[in-house]
Amino acid sequence: MLKKIKKLFSFLTLDMAIDLGTANSLVYVKDRGIIINEPSVVAVNNKTGQILSIGEEAKKMVGRTPSYITATRPLINGVISDFEVTEQMLKYFIEKTISTSKSFFKFAYMPRIIIGIPCGVTEVERKAVRDAAKNAGARTVFLIEEPLASAIGANLPIQEAGGNFIVDIGGGTTEVAVISLGGIVASKSLRIAGDKLNDDIIQFAQKEYKLLIGERTAEFIKINIGSALPLKEKKEVPMRGRNLVTGLPEEVVVFNDDIQRALERSVKQIVSAIKTTIEETPPELLSDVMTNGIYLAGGGSLLKGLDVLISHETKMPCKIIDDPLTSVVRGCGMALENIDTLADLVQKDEEWGAPI
Ligand code: ADP
Ligand code: MG
Repeated sequence: MLKKIKKLFSFLTLDMAIDLGTANSLVYVKDRGIIINEPSVVAVNNKTGQILSIGEEAKKMVGRTPSYITATRPLINGVISDFEVTEQMLKYFIEKTISTSKSFFKFAYMPRIIIGIPCGVTEVERKAVRDAAKNAGARTVFLIEEPLASAIGANLPIQEAGGNFIVDIGGGTTEVAVISLGGIVASKSLRIAGDKLNDDIIQFAQKEYKLLIGERTAEFIKINIGSALPLKEKKEVPMRGRNLVTGLPEEVVVFNDDIQRALERSVKQIVSAIKTTIEETPPELLSDVMTNGIYLAGGGSLLKGLDVLISHETKMPCKIIDDPLTSVVRGCGMALENIDTLADLVQKDEEWGAPI
């Protein structure tokens, strides 16, 4: 009976997949594809508590705001650090998704939402994500661990008995996971990823040139000339900031070799987390991993030469999956579309224990 009623009203169900990343948040809707892909940044007026802007517009404000406005990231290390702001961001995503729908019945939509969460988050943190989504208007909330979603998005055969080794290098965290039979067999979460690399460049500019540069400048340099290995080609970019001695603006030219050295320490830590996880992987699965190799996901995996370095250090093949910045949200979407067969992989809100 309940099933019949559900089917009757299925046209009112809006299935949304959300990747709440530390750096970028994405929304995927069946038949519409990825409809939102924006930085996870929210600008708040401290005096009134009012939210001024979300996403791209708010990111532009980072480091440029007057003192009463803060442009913050509501997620730190993939976990909600500011509950209210996260809820507002989710509300903004849900409203935007509904308002851009062409359906005649959109006024009565009942959103079913699946959200990717890092592996190893606590029960309390999971509850915070679920509550934020519920308060933002979700009727049903499913949670899935990000490495699983990434692997589904990359079409890896995760439900089979073989081992799949996936490394997701995001903004705040690097998640290393070995997946077999639809579950995570071994995993490691490291708070060194894209943001730390930006920070390394900021430190380098300060130490080497007494130059204070912003986060956006550092990210620009990383993406344009950063690498995990020394490169044959020579590249340079101008670096602008404020000279800490004179207090005046200054521009210097930086070279790729210097940036590679500045990133070396953090890159080594990422590689070492991968090696530790390999050591913890059951030998039977390791033989599959040796054949299939290590799969890289997340924006941080695009650092030049990182795949080559990981392959060299682990003596295993290493491949960046197609479109590594969107694999989590695509995988979440696929999991929701096949919720009946993939039910074991996701956690539905009704399965939550007693309220905490
Ligand atoms: P999250 O899931 O935490 O939101 P993403 O997977 O969206 O993170 O990745 C964001 C990170 O990827 C940022 O730190 C960004 O600087 C980095 N990134 C994006 N493109 C590149 C690139 N071409 N080279 C190096 N790093 C990159
Ligand atoms: Mg991510």
